[in-house]
Amino acid sequence: MAARFDAIIIGTGQAGPALAARLSKAGMKVAVTERKLFGGTCVNTGCIPTKTLVASAYAAHLARRAGEYGVGIAGPITVDMKRVKARKDEISGRSNKGVEDWMRGLANGAVYHGHARFESPRTVSVNGEILEADKIFINVGGRALEPPMPGLDQVPYLTNSSMMAVDFLPEHLIVVGGSYIGLEFGQMYRRFGSKVTIVEMSPRLIAREDEDISNAIREILEKEDIQIRLNAECITAHREGQQVVIGLDCAEANKEVAGSHLLLAVGRVPNTGDLGLDKAGVETDKSGYIKVDDQLRTNVPGIWALGDCNGKGAFTHTSYNDYEIVAANLLDHDPRKVSDRITTYALFIDPPLGRAGMTEAQVRASGRQALIATRPMTRVSRAVEKGESQGFMKVVVDAESKQILGAAILGVTGDEVIHTLLDVMYAKAPYTTVTRAMHIHPTVSELLPTLLQELKPLV
Ligand SMILES: Cc1cc2nc3c(=O)[nH]c(=O)nc-3n(C[C@H](O)[C@H](O)[C@H](O)COP(=O)(O)OP(=O)(O)OC[C@H]3O[C@@H](n4cnc5c(N)ncnc54)[C@H](O)[C@@H]3O)c2cc1C
Repeated sequence: MAARFDAIIIGTGQAGPALAARLSKAGMKVAVTERKLFGGTCVNTGCIPTKTLVASAYAAHLARRAGEYGVGIAGPITVDMKRVKARKDEISGRSNKGVEDWMRGLANGAVYHGHARFESPRTVSVNGEILEADKIFINVGGRALEPPMPGLDQVPYLTNSSMMAVDFLPEHLIVVGGSYIGLEFGQMYRRFGSKVTIVEMSPRLIAREDEDISNAIREILEKEDIQIRLNAECITAHREGQQVVIGLDCAEANKEVAGSHLLLAVGRVPNTGDLGLDKAGVETDKSGYIKVDDQLRTNVPGIWALGDCNGKGAFTHTSYNDYEIVAANLLDHDPRKVSDRITTYALFIDPPLGRAGMTEAQVRASGRQALIATRPMTRVSRAVEKGESQGFMKVVVDAESKQILGAAILGVTGDEVIHTLLDVMYAKAPYTTVTRAMHIHPTVSELLPTLLQELKPLV
């Protein structure tokens, strides 16, 4: 006998819990399934723990620089990795418990702690029980890609998940992958005191960003003595005693780097392979991402896919926005859709990169008439006062409509400041809205009107 519900949620990532709560509030009987840790990646092995660790790394970095500010600290700066981890565990654990308590407290709700698998388009099995509902919402997220790298099976390696258990200082951490996750871990461990080498296959770091952004980030990291090895087209691994040795290039000999620990940060894969999607008839693309339409409906009526597993975003805010889109369509008669949203995200190195909309390269490729302005953070008074003036800001505007097409703020508080531009983009207002606004002095945001007064044709 199947247990009958109005809705089943598979996975408690960043969309599932909020949706379960909305549906329960609307009077539906909801089953919530979670196979591992409540709150998923962001809460347990992603955003929250990493940003907590970034904060510890920042404290160590600033303490080492204390003399520059006229502050004396007696003795060397030490980092107690056990306490760093305990702080991370406490903050992340609180969120994890918060999500679990929230789900267990839902009116008309039932929580199943186990791996859920489709048995048919309307039924799911979990812990040997069959659950049935007319509406099923998949929020199963993703995990670290462990690529078929020659020799990888011969060496111990870490991923973002196993990094969470590290409570010691690796002597030399080799990070394979020079994108968002790899760079955050790389800078963090360098600041904790490890030697760090970042190995990237592309000719530059975070290759989806503009070249000037990649170059500035490289400069920031190299200034902290992080070794960066680009163009590592063929990466291999082997063991030599206690060391992990990474081969960087098949074409040339002696291109190796040896370290004490290896972190793989080369991408993510969706958790869709063991979900019984074939039994439900739900289609995926060739990488395993569940195919959805603009309102996150799969090809099977009554089944939706939200969050990283639909390939429409790879962030907590995109997953949460997926929840809002589905809830608005189902409960509010509000036809919100994925294509209404503007790309936005941050890279949480220090200083952070805040991004919104198109890159300069994308604007150029679109062939439209555009205007551009850039400003180094050395010309942002607040950044100079704080002694944190690395990076620059850049904004690109449509010459005809005067709307902002995209922006990048690589600099202190760039992850926050970007929202001023993002909100103007959502309002579809001309950039002159910002140039006419009076901002607070002295802030980084105060320079946005000035930046936009300095637009020049993009040639
Ligand atoms: C190191 C790192 C740092 C990150 N930092 C940021 C950041 O700063 N900002 C940001 O926006 N994003 C960040 N992200 C991305 C962010 O964590 C994810 O985009 C976000 O968690 C959304 O995920 P989700 O909702 O798709 O599902 P997830 O959070 O991945 O959760 C899915 C849940 O489903 C469960 N599950 C899977 N299969 C089943 C099944 N068959 N049955 C039952 N349960 C199942 C899993 O156990 C998991 O709990 C980071 C990611 C990583 C790895």
